[in-house]
Amino acid sequence: MSKKKACYIWDEKLIEESDRLPAVIGRASMVHNIIEAFNLMGKLTVVRSTPATFEDMKEFHSDLYLDQLKKYIEVDEDYMSTAQDEEFGIGYDCPPVSNMFDLVSCIAGGSVTASRCLLLGVSDVAINWCGGWHHAHRLKAEGFCYVNDIVIAIEKLRKKFPKVLYIDLDVHHGNGVEEAYSQSDSVFTLSFHKYEVGFFPGTGGIDNIGSQGGTGYACNFPLHASYTDDTMEYAFEKVFNAVYSTFEPDAIVTQCGADALARDPNGGATLTTRSYCTCVQHVLDKRKPTLLLGGGGYNHANAARLWASLTALVAGVQLDDQIPEHSDWPQYGPSFTMAIEPTLTKDCNKKAYIEECITKILDHLNKYVKPISEEPATKRTKTEVENVISETRYCHNKLDFRKKVSMFAVKENNDTSKNESKVNDVYEFID
Ligand SMILES: [Zn+2]
Repeated sequence: MSKKKACYIWDEKLIEESDRLPAVIGRASMVHNIIEAFNLMGKLTVVRSTPATFEDMKEFHSDLYLDQLKKYIEVDEDYMSTAQDEEFGIGYDCPPVSNMFDLVSCIAGGSVTASRCLLLGVSDVAINWCGGWHHAHRLKAEGFCYVNDIVIAIEKLRKKFPKVLYIDLDVHHGNGVEEAYSQSDSVFTLSFHKYEVGFFPGTGGIDNIGSQGGTGYACNFPLHASYTDDTMEYAFEKVFNAVYSTFEPDAIVTQCGADALARDPNGGATLTTRSYCTCVQHVLDKRKPTLLLGGGGYNHANAARLWASLTALVAGVQLDDQIPEHSDWPQYGPSFTMAIEPTLTKDCNKKAYIEECITKILDHLNKYVKPISEEPATKRTKTEVENVISETRYCHNKLDFRKKVSMFAVKENNDTSKNESKVNDVYEFID
């Protein structure tokens, strides 16, 4: 069986809109440009992102919240948030921006397009570095996140893949996603994050394991400050393998937030690309349909280094340590290399603490998560199953993957400073 190329979700508008996110202005193009500079596009199936609809976003967000976002059309720099804005989390760390609805529908659309690639079997791995906004709630923006593209994408995946494992590598607890599925045993949420007094968002302790029907299906690995590659790799391997074999997911969604990298201004961990690559490799080794998303990452050059490295990992390409010259090259100084050096800060996680957490997590899995053999086959209702079948048929009728004249070809030809071999085909879904 030939290996299908991974899907890389892209669109000029997706990048342009993501570049407007107040917490990460300009980051999306920096990430895309380095991936292009390394010629990775040719190793992937580039799929054009289409914006999510109101209906798509309603799979998680309330009408009230989405209607509120439609109200921000022209926002001046000196805009003062009102009490109503605050009610929806707009203000403070999620300031209003102009044409807010376009922005959120583009971002959610990237992850929905990625899900679609997996649902249709175009590829087993789909990447959207513009997604991963794990703090957004059903009714509220929070922590730089206006739309929870992750939950929306998981809802799409569940139409074909009944059990989804969500993994969160961001330095912050994936609270929005965990909350959405806290009472569900079909989506298992697993988050590794810094957990310290006063550190955002303040949730994600080891005893937060979900509630009611979802008890045991949320798992948190709360780490002390300055966790290192060694700590992360050790904890991840133990916990991920146990969760995977107990829960047996049909698909995996991994949020690869880059703010656990050393020197992130909002972070506090000291990871390098090494541990992220190790963790993602473990996920890829399972050969399940996998969605890879971005997230936090406030040292833009390092976030770009990480996501380019992960893209190369997925594509099976070894990257040169020297960053190729391209428009953003000056921003990678003074090293101009891919390496991210860890800081010398001492890892506050003692071996005994890590072991204690692992033991607790394994106990919870044993106690609450049903081994596959005990899971009733009739767990999903007939209507649910019927819906899945009709949805799948609908997708196949529109198997609507056509080759399009490449936008890159046009763009590159106008710019003689770039290498012509970067020209790619862009695939898109026809609606
Ligand atoms: Zn974060």
